[in-house]
Amino acid sequence: MHYDVVIIGAGMSGFAAGIRLAYFDKHVCIVEKHSAPGGLNSYYSLGGRHFDVGLHAVTNYASPEKRPAPLAKLLRQLRFQRDDFALCPQGYSEIRFPGRTLRFTNDIEVLTSEVAREFPGEEDKFRRLLAKIEAYDDTRLDQAYKPARPILRDALGEQGLIEMLLCPVMYYGSAQEHDMDFTQFVTIFKSLFFEGLARPRDGVRAIIRALIEKFCGCGGELKMNAGVEGIDVDNDRVTGLVLESGEQLTTDVVLSSAGYIETMRLCGGVGAAVPEDEPGRMSFVETIGVMDTLPQDLGHEATIVFFNDADTFAYSQPAELVDLRSGVVCCPSNYVSHEDMEEGILRLTWMANCEKWLGMDEVAYRAAKQGYLDEFVTRANVYVPGFCDRVVCTDMFTPRTIRDYTGHINGAVYGSPRKRRDGRTPIENLYICGTDQGFLGIIGAMLSGISIANLQVLSKD
Ligand SMILES: Cc1cc2nc3c(=O)[nH]c(=O)nc-3n(C[C@H](O)[C@H](O)[C@H](O)COP(=O)(O)OP(=O)(O)OC[C@H]3O[C@@H](n4cnc5c(N)ncnc54)[C@H](O)[C@@H]3O)c2cc1C
Repeated sequence: MHYDVVIIGAGMSGFAAGIRLAYFDKHVCIVEKHSAPGGLNSYYSLGGRHFDVGLHAVTNYASPEKRPAPLAKLLRQLRFQRDDFALCPQGYSEIRFPGRTLRFTNDIEVLTSEVAREFPGEEDKFRRLLAKIEAYDDTRLDQAYKPARPILRDALGEQGLIEMLLCPVMYYGSAQEHDMDFTQFVTIFKSLFFEGLARPRDGVRAIIRALIEKFCGCGGELKMNAGVEGIDVDNDRVTGLVLESGEQLTTDVVLSSAGYIETMRLCGGVGAAVPEDEPGRMSFVETIGVMDTLPQDLGHEATIVFFNDADTFAYSQPAELVDLRSGVVCCPSNYVSHEDMEEGILRLTWMANCEKWLGMDEVAYRAAKQGYLDEFVTRANVYVPGFCDRVVCTDMFTPRTIRDYTGHINGAVYGSPRKRRDGRTPIENLYICGTDQGFLGIIGAMLSGISIANLQVLSKD
């Protein structure tokens, strides 16, 4: 079968690119190696309960009146209504460091007044930083790499404040250890603090269903259980793909959301001749506990808590299996309009050492998982006192799960530290979208798919 465009991956970026192309009458096919759609943001059932794989929050929420916001652009370009995703905003979230807490909501003024309270004397500098971030064009695809920490040190006087701001921003999107690209910092900062957090009432499956319906409804073809085994390249041009089943597809263009290095490896000999980037090393474990009551009934009202047990925030691959010194606690029932959920869920995310998790045999792996599940119950009880008496079921995923869901080397959640912002590869008609293009998160990944489809396919017609 011949297609105008084949897209590798039925994640958020693949669907968004596919919808955009199908709208413009492209004969487009998405090929996905798994049986479940959604990529990193999929869902599954266990013991009769539905779980989201990774969803803490849809960042980039923005109230309807904020027209230029990324969410509004996405809805317009994919022709969705706001109600299609049934997004409910957060109550409030917190960044907790020793002796200091910064609360934030979807109103940036709340964070600003918290900064003034915890760091007297910093308010004006913080406001100037906010103005700089707001004015910065992070959507330009040609922004050069600039480390964020020196820029933040120039802007702010208190190192403690810099560490507290970097903690949520790095957790929600830095592929790089220790520091991050300032453009990436701005994108995530805006998505968290200017636009804010929300959650679809019925979890991520609501978004995925809407994407599938729209894609298939406008003529797109979706092949599940259709892993790409190889990409055929002739004279620096892709001519087709071979699926694991042996089926061959020919195409004019390939958009891949499988990751840059991972995609180049699919090109076999050609990929081998191209210098490789360093794969990312940042991966996580996430533990999930279901309670027979809601966290707010046990006194825990925050939607998300980013915590760090020291004054300095260390964002790097830990030496041990898991770094317990910092993490993210998320209560999906603590969103506005979620209070009537029958059971409460608490998710706790920690940084993890991917090499150690991926190097274990099955017995050691099972034992390590059990050990950290026990640790989770103990620690969750600190955030939600009474948790250990009310927990009815737990689950956990590790870098191994992330690798199996995405194919990312090292189970690196945010892919490679070097991003390809224009999506180009050394192969003329092969482009990268999604995580390794550089726009992250659910909304970011969809915008990535839209941008690359617009820039590299539709604008060339
Ligand atoms: C634990 C966790 C929590 C997260 N929480 C949030 C959150 O709360 N909010 C948020 O906004 N973002 C969150 N994210 C990030 C978000 O999930 C990602 O940024 C986004 O989903 C990436 O989408 P994508 O389309 O770029 O890639 P992916 O979702 O990785 O999709 C790529 C797809 O390509 C497929 N694929 C790979 N190789 C092949 C092949 N050879 N053949 C065929 N198919 C292939 C994979 O199976 C996968 O389905 C979280 C991520 C994780 C891991």
